[in-house]
Amino acid sequence: MPLQKTDAELIQLDKELLWHPYTSMSHPTPHFLIKKAEGSRITLSNNQTLIDGMSSWWSVIHGYNHPTINEAMKSQIDDFSHVMFGGLTHEPAIELANTLIKITPKELSRVFFSDSGSVAVEVALKMAIQYWHSAGNPDKKRFITPKNGYHGDTFAAMSVCDPVNGMHNLFKGTLTEQFFIPSPPTGIDTPIDEKYLARIHQLIKKHHTEIAGFILEPVVQNAGGMRFYNPMYLDRIKTLCDDFNILLIFDEIATGFGRTGKMFATNHCNITPDIMCVGKALTGGYITLAATITNDKVALGISDKGGVFMHGPTFMGNPLACSAANASLSLLASYDLENLITNIETNLSKSLNKCKALENVANIRCFGAIGVVELITPIDQHRIQPLFVEQGVWIRPFGKLIYLMPPFVITNKEIETLGDAIYNVIASLEQ
Ligand code: PMP
Repeated sequence: MPLQKTDAELIQLDKELLWHPYTSMSHPTPHFLIKKAEGSRITLSNNQTLIDGMSSWWSVIHGYNHPTINEAMKSQIDDFSHVMFGGLTHEPAIELANTLIKITPKELSRVFFSDSGSVAVEVALKMAIQYWHSAGNPDKKRFITPKNGYHGDTFAAMSVCDPVNGMHNLFKGTLTEQFFIPSPPTGIDTPIDEKYLARIHQLIKKHHTEIAGFILEPVVQNAGGMRFYNPMYLDRIKTLCDDFNILLIFDEIATGFGRTGKMFATNHCNITPDIMCVGKALTGGYITLAATITNDKVALGISDKGGVFMHGPTFMGNPLACSAANASLSLLASYDLENLITNIETNLSKSLNKCKALENVANIRCFGAIGVVELITPIDQHRIQPLFVEQGVWIRPFGKLIYLMPPFVITNKEIETLGDAIYNVIASLEQ
């Protein structure tokens, strides 16, 4: 039964009942009731339309309510929405695995589906530990990772998140202690810092007998700081990992499926990781699904001596989610991706650069379909969120970062409006 309440009553009930991401139940940030979303627009219950600068946490790459994905899911619902993946299989999952293997870097050949990005990371870490266990190295069970990373909110994923942003103090004693290195120097074109690599080499040399894997977000560190770095570091880190028997794990959950201008951020470098995690935009942001993809070495290393991989979520390989992902990937294949994203990048730079004139702006940077305005002092989310809505845009900043990751269907004019809104809001706070 619909609740038959006014919008104000619904929002009040939401406040009383619902815990939203990273919020307090006693001092919740404002939440806006939406009634429709289409293309790059979100419509609120009061009929106000907002231009979407977030792609719903970077996942809705083709825009909302896309006829191709709608159709694929409706057709799948009529066949079956879910079956267990233990003992049963189905074409949507097989087709999806086949496409993923084709579009990911060569050598990645085996796919494990799970429900969310965090779980895909748990699975990747588990795979690495199980691989070394099977290889007779049970001491290799810790991980090395750069600071400023973000890999999810479950416990193992949290243990490899930035120790400050990831609130390691709050969970001290419950998180595995991992090896942290400084985050890579920023700037896609910044020359490689040999001293930085030498520090990593030192740490690995000392601790490699305990280290199962090196996990990182390739080229862009996302929720841990929106930092871009030179892809050549990835080539060099891969060599270090090979020299010291460490598996390399790329978390492409935020960067995968075109966001950086190539299908995967990994395509900016010349190497292939041992394990890759994807999620978010995998289904065009329609429904939750993630995958951990690995090579024969890891998959057969775990399995050949009679081992089984110890993970199996209830909704593993959900057919509805796989059908959305198959439709999303066929849409992606129909785009001239590099040109599309280059155009978004050019327009993001144009529209954000005017913020340079503002006092509280420390840095502006764009890479692919990602535009970042870094402030000198952090924003107050309670205050800033309604200001963006007043400007007719949906932008959700955090800390010192106001950023845009729009859907790929965004127009140049809409990007200009998003940039104007950011300028106006920062300027109004400076008065
Ligand atoms: N890894 C990265 C790089 C992410 O950006 C995120 C989510 N922001 C995750 C993992 C976790 O994914 P999920 O929220 O789907 O659990």
